[in-house]
Amino acid sequence: MLKTTSCGSLRSEDAGRSVTLAGWVHRRRDHGSLIFIDIRDRDGLTQVVFNPEVAPDAHAVAESFRGEWVIRVTGEVQARPQGTENTGMSTGDIEVIAAEADVLNESLTPPFYINEETDVDELLRMRYRYLDLRRSSMRDTMILRHKVVKFMRDFLDERGFLEIETPILIKSTPEGARDYLVPSRQYPGSFYALPQSPQQLKQLLMVAGVEKYFQIARCFRDEDLRTNRQPEFTQLDLEMSFVEEEDILSLTEQLYTEMIETLTPEKKLTKPFPRLTYREAMDKYGSDKPDLRYGMELEDLSDFARKSDFRVFTSAVQNGGVVKGFAAPGLASYSRRQTDALIQFARDRGATGLVTIALQGEPGSLEELTEDNIRSAASRFLSVEQVREIGERTNAAIGDMILIVAGPEKTTNLVLGELRHELGQRLELADPDEIKFAFVVDFPLFEHDEEREAWDAVHHAFTSPKPGYEQYIESDPGKVLANCYDLVGNGEELGSGSIRVHNRALQERIFKVLGYDEEQVEERFGQLVHAFEYGAPPHGGIAPGIDRLIMMLANRDNIRDVIAFPKTQNGTDPLFGAPGKVDVAQLDELGLKLDFAKS
Ligand code: ASP
Repeated sequence: MLKTTSCGSLRSEDAGRSVTLAGWVHRRRDHGSLIFIDIRDRDGLTQVVFNPEVAPDAHAVAESFRGEWVIRVTGEVQARPQGTENTGMSTGDIEVIAAEADVLNESLTPPFYINEETDVDELLRMRYRYLDLRRSSMRDTMILRHKVVKFMRDFLDERGFLEIETPILIKSTPEGARDYLVPSRQYPGSFYALPQSPQQLKQLLMVAGVEKYFQIARCFRDEDLRTNRQPEFTQLDLEMSFVEEEDILSLTEQLYTEMIETLTPEKKLTKPFPRLTYREAMDKYGSDKPDLRYGMELEDLSDFARKSDFRVFTSAVQNGGVVKGFAAPGLASYSRRQTDALIQFARDRGATGLVTIALQGEPGSLEELTEDNIRSAASRFLSVEQVREIGERTNAAIGDMILIVAGPEKTTNLVLGELRHELGQRLELADPDEIKFAFVVDFPLFEHDEEREAWDAVHHAFTSPKPGYEQYIESDPGKVLANCYDLVGNGEELGSGSIRVHNRALQERIFKVLGYDEEQVEERFGQLVHAFEYGAPPHGGIAPGIDRLIMMLANRDNIRDVIAFPKTQNGTDPLFGAPGKVDVAQLDELGLKLDFAKS
């Protein structure tokens, strides 16, 4: 190689060695006649000293060096003079006294600093991604990502999993999102689709007798991008035969625990991962991906509300709804305006209103509560005793604000869940170094889409019903629970999976509820249902996302910061200028004509 040693590796015991380093000019300082260069490669930085009296030729070359030039230096490692060591640098005990130097390549002045972690416009960073990736925080994230993926591979390899690639050019695999389509040149008018996930393929691998499969799989979904979504993203896709739900959950838990304890030991993990049923998660947190790093659990106050004189409460319960609330610590100090904004937040999410009860005063226990402490538009309808009861049930203290929603259960849970999440963030209730995973289990198999008056799969069409629920598939689809589970962590859904259907008759019953007729089943899922007739073993799996996991481990709050070449929020790639126009000749070959009239 053009170098003997990496720029991050030299220590005091290397003093006296002759080394050749190659890398980028990270920083240059001129001290009188001496020139100091920090040379950088992926591994770190080394200080190189150019002394005109020791090596006049090398010194002359170093005079030309500018930031980000690619250079090579040969010289002797020396302990730094006492008092000049740099403890903030892994190579801070030594320096290299240059004997020879040459320029391997020059560089234009970069559009932003590589050697400083300053805030840079993201579009600019993406346009010059190759420079952005040189910066230490991006480099560290890429290294972490590599280690995570390698850990996964090693862990699964040790347990007998085979990594098998599945095609990127495939047929539409309906999984709820829009497909990316690729026109076929040989079959004009026909299209490949990019896989939304390798779901059917991994199930076919189980029929093929692979038994334990995994893949670091790229998935493609053409959706409008919300925050922290990418049109293409990466999953650890895995599938096993002859397993039950518990096998997949414990394998996942073991993998995540060992991986995090090995790679990011500074993270605080709670073991074992709690298991919540979907019902419990919705009841307690108003969300199927609750952040468990803090409390603020929702309390059902419907029984209390029924007996009250407050019409907002009584009528909600009479109409078959619920009254639920939680206490937000320290929020009693919120101003009128801030409180109104919370009420608007609740309305925007479908609540008819939000009852706020601020318990103002010096923090203290509820025993001391008097009328003077209570600030609430509902205080006329609630006695001090009643407020104290609500306070006790929601675990409030003086200084807190109790937030209550009354209405249909689904909306009430949703609104309170979002309020809880929002306030958890605003009040910084979560410890950023903590990761609280949980498995959410026992999801319903189907959910009803009121607008289309149709049943959708909560997970996907290949999920099996829990034992004892098969009989309700046709008669009461909403009642059927699924062998389906989510891995959640810190308020994010990190992955979903299920034990699958593996026989044709049951699969067809499920397709029927989902509204597919025979022809559609044949067209979209024919390959799978036919395969089920050739000895398909019981099987199941999971597919945790890798991008969000890295965000969590690297404390990044932008998904683009954990992907080497991401797309912008608008789905574009500013570096390549994708999506881009193509030649008419290319379109002709594909038998395509553009017609924008409709758009
Ligand atoms: N293919 C599913 C998904 O992408 C995961 C699974 O069921 O294994 O969500």
